[in-house]
Amino acid sequence: MMSDVAANLGEIKDRVAAACSRAARDVDSVELVAVSKTFPADAVRDAVAAGHACFGESKLQEAEGKIDLLPGHLHWHFIGGVQRNKVRRILQKFEVIHAIDSLRLASYTDEIAKELGLFPKVFLQVNVGGEASKGGFEPETIRAEIDALLALERLEILGLMTIPPVGPDAESARHWFVDLRNLRDELARESGVPLSFLSMGMSGDFEVAIEEGATHVRVGTAIFGKRAYRVDGELG
Ligand SMILES: *Cc1c(COP(=O)(O)O)cnc(C)c1O
Repeated sequence: MMSDVAANLGEIKDRVAAACSRAARDVDSVELVAVSKTFPADAVRDAVAAGHACFGESKLQEAEGKIDLLPGHLHWHFIGGVQRNKVRRILQKFEVIHAIDSLRLASYTDEIAKELGLFPKVFLQVNVGGEASKGGFEPETIRAEIDALLALERLEILGLMTIPPVGPDAESARHWFVDLRNLRDELARESGVPLSFLSMGMSGDFEVAIEEGATHVRVGTAIFGKRAYRVDGELG
């Protein structure tokens, strides 16, 4: 019998494909990051058995244990807030970091990457809604600092990431996604670096995000089910 995870994954992939088709985009232009936080390695195995290989985690310690139990060919994305004292361990386990949120953290990550001989792929998180409770660069700050960020030797800056304010429905997130894309276009124009990737969209709004240009959608609940506890006191 097909597991719930495999069935959910199939359904989400169909919805990703339909959103791509509405936006006249190639389905391969969107990476589905299956957010497995709070779920055990067995749940990830169900997704792997269904052919999925890209996963997101937001809590380092939990992720480390899980990653060690799973096949080595999987691609792990760190989507949570990054604490300085965990940068080294995050770089050792994860291929992509989604939430670099200050020049200071970026410089430090660059330094550690050099020590480790790595060239990590990262997103810069932007606080599009200006919420005090959320991490991320303010748009003004990233405009002022983008040249310094792009000058870091080791970080491969893929583009921008955001977690927009919670709204009543998927449609209400659309203007935040448009804001992130417009900011990216502006930074790309000014810097001459394409910043081609946009990490935006979660279970409730990933289709809208794809219509507005998301290249990485981070989907947890819709694949693995409702989480029994919250992670880092941030997102449920
Ligand atoms: C948990 C989490 C997600 C997934 O959220 P769902 O609503 O379960 O899809 C996406 N992005 C980040 C940063 C998260 O912490």
